[in-house]
Amino acid sequence: MSNPISSTPFRILRVAVPTPLRRLFDYRPGRNSPPGGWQPGIRVRVPFGRRQVIGVIMECGDHSDFPLDQLKPVADWLDAEPLPEDWLWLCRFTARYYQHSLGDTLHQALPVLLRQGRPLAGRILERWQALAQPDAADPRLKRAPRQVELLAMLCQHPQGLHTQAILAQGYSREQLMTLVDKQLATRHETPLTAAEPATDQLLAEPALPLNREQAAALATLHERLDAFHPCLLHGVTGSGKTEVYLQLIEAVVARGRQALLLVPEIGLTPQTLARFRSRFRVPVVALHSGLTDNERLDAWEAVASGRAPIVIGTRSAIFTPLARPGVIIVDEEHDSSFKQHEGLRYHARDLAVARAKHHAIPLLLGSATPSLESLYHAGRGNYRHLHLTRRASRHAPARLELIDLRGRPRQGGLIAPAIEAIRATLEAGHQVLVFINRRGFAPTLACHACGWLADCDSCDARMTLHRQPPMLACHHCDKRRPVPDACPSCGSADLRPLGSGTERTEETLAALFPKVPVHRIDRDSTRRRDAFEQLLGEVRRGEPCLLVGTQMLAKGHHLPHVTLVIVVNADAGLYASDFRALEHSAQLLVQVAGRAGRASHPGRVLVQTLHTDDPHLRLLADQGYDALAEQLLEERRAAALPPFRFLALLRLESPKEEAATALGREAADMLRQWVAEHTPDVNCMGPVPAPMERRQNRYHMQLMLSAGRRSQLHAACARLTSWLEAKPEARRVRWSLDVDPQTLG
Ligand code: ADP
Ligand code: ZN
Ligand code: ZN
Repeated sequence: MSNPISSTPFRILRVAVPTPLRRLFDYRPGRNSPPGGWQPGIRVRVPFGRRQVIGVIMECGDHSDFPLDQLKPVADWLDAEPLPEDWLWLCRFTARYYQHSLGDTLHQALPVLLRQGRPLAGRILERWQALAQPDAADPRLKRAPRQVELLAMLCQHPQGLHTQAILAQGYSREQLMTLVDKQLATRHETPLTAAEPATDQLLAEPALPLNREQAAALATLHERLDAFHPCLLHGVTGSGKTEVYLQLIEAVVARGRQALLLVPEIGLTPQTLARFRSRFRVPVVALHSGLTDNERLDAWEAVASGRAPIVIGTRSAIFTPLARPGVIIVDEEHDSSFKQHEGLRYHARDLAVARAKHHAIPLLLGSATPSLESLYHAGRGNYRHLHLTRRASRHAPARLELIDLRGRPRQGGLIAPAIEAIRATLEAGHQVLVFINRRGFAPTLACHACGWLADCDSCDARMTLHRQPPMLACHHCDKRRPVPDACPSCGSADLRPLGSGTERTEETLAALFPKVPVHRIDRDSTRRRDAFEQLLGEVRRGEPCLLVGTQMLAKGHHLPHVTLVIVVNADAGLYASDFRALEHSAQLLVQVAGRAGRASHPGRVLVQTLHTDDPHLRLLADQGYDALAEQLLEERRAAALPPFRFLALLRLESPKEEAATALGREAADMLRQWVAEHTPDVNCMGPVPAPMERRQNRYHMQLMLSAGRRSQLHAACARLTSWLEAKPEARRVRWSLDVDPQTLG
């Protein structure tokens, strides 16, 4: 139907517009057409209802189901050239796979400024070059230490640095302009279409000589750089995975291709970026939530045009178009931040697999604690399984020591043996990390006279007690209340915090160890990213200190002077109802343990638990993650759960419980009949109330589909969504479909 190069004028343009509806909309071409003719991939402004919206032409043809004279013409075209082909392919694939509206998928996958209609062409690029060496004696740099640093950075890049790369390092445009005014630097402008000056030398610093395992892994990767070649790089924290990524990227870029590296939200730290930027002379583009819309568009364009050979980004960076794709790497591939939990519920790792296959390029998934999915594929030979078993530093990863919480008094969540271990570590001049996966002062407030608990009015959940500032807050709906002076139920003043959160543990430790600084690191204490980085910088200098933190601290950060890690409570994940809870809590425990003893000192990890004889926890402590993962895979097989079967979850929510339940029942009845006839492999369970039935005063129901074959699951999901879209009652219930859900909550 579509024929992009044909010169015959098309009569119909089928356009994807940003709406949840899973269909394209027909328009007539506008009066003036783009210079290259109408083609799929060109953005257009079209009338839609009473508004004008920006959509993307997906098909050009001659047939419409509607009479031609009823179709509206396209108001305007925005691109002379179609958006990148590989990007369009990925959006189509994503929309189909996740059963999401194509228009909304395209919209979400575009940088904000392109969604708003900003042209792609005709933009300029700024580059800044040093004109002098930083010299502290230079009167122009007197009392300007940041400018000295900035100038030093520019000097390291003789061909100049792009604005985006400089701003990403925390400098401002004013600081750059000041250097220019002082004639210490110059600013160059080039049209964006101009090619990057060729660099004959790719590396700015030499690669490290690899150890035997790293060299073997890299050799396997080098074997097939021109084909889809999925590999799992399975190596403990500190075993040198990043060095393998760096050298793989070097090989790919040397061949004139581009590398895309995805990292978890928490992993894209200035240190990670600095490590890549100091290795390579070519531009390394970073894509993360801290960018302005302009920076994001610059980055997108730099990669789409092929000017930037290396791009590092978090989840949404999977939607970056690549002019010359060469490799996709997913670091910490098990991390749950790769899954988007609302709207378009994609998993960036899974899209990376699909994308690498489409481009016929290597795919590298790296982790110390691979997901059960990836281990399953490696076990079946779908992925090459590469191992790094040794740390580059001398010490093996610390083992988990389980310590029994039962019947022992706790102070701020900690029992005496843990406190003694902290004391000994601090006295030896080292640092301690106390991990507690709960922010706030205490999980809730309780009345000791009548048993009242601080429940949230809007959710089936308790409100968390905070002290800094004092309040009760619901972590599910964000509702806040002042802390009552007396029990709202019986009037007693005997209200006490129940359990411990980061604030309480921090307070206890500060009282126990008054001479040692205690730093709390959680979402409340680190709202400002630079404050967090500054604190980490201080901690890396190595003075004895105590760190109390949530999983923000557990992942990604190198803390070389920490030699003792305390896990305040390992039990939450052990008995949670969610089928992935054990996998995720084991991964988290191993990640936390990986913080201990990374530099020159061996580490210890003490895990407090009420269940020292829990078989899963024992297996993890005695034999490690791989042994536990093998056991969990066996259990998943027996329970017919992923990765042995595929799941999709329909979530329904409404302020009225009956409305959600009634629609869920009707959908289930319809679907059961339909699958019996068309996709007998599909199993339909529910509707059942969601694990937290009431959230923000809305009732949540869910219907689960499972199948052994993806094609059947997808057919059933497609049937379900089209039925719901056509159903008037469904407009009063909010519903969404989650293909490959990560949690059943
Ligand atoms: P991972 O990504 O697996 O956590 P890294 O690549 O960050 O491991 O390596 C951990 C540390 O070991 C880093 O400081 C790195 O510079 C160093 N390292 C890695 N590979 C080597 C090597 N072949 N020789 C010397 N040091 C290495
Ligand atoms: Zn009471
Ligand atoms: Zn709430």
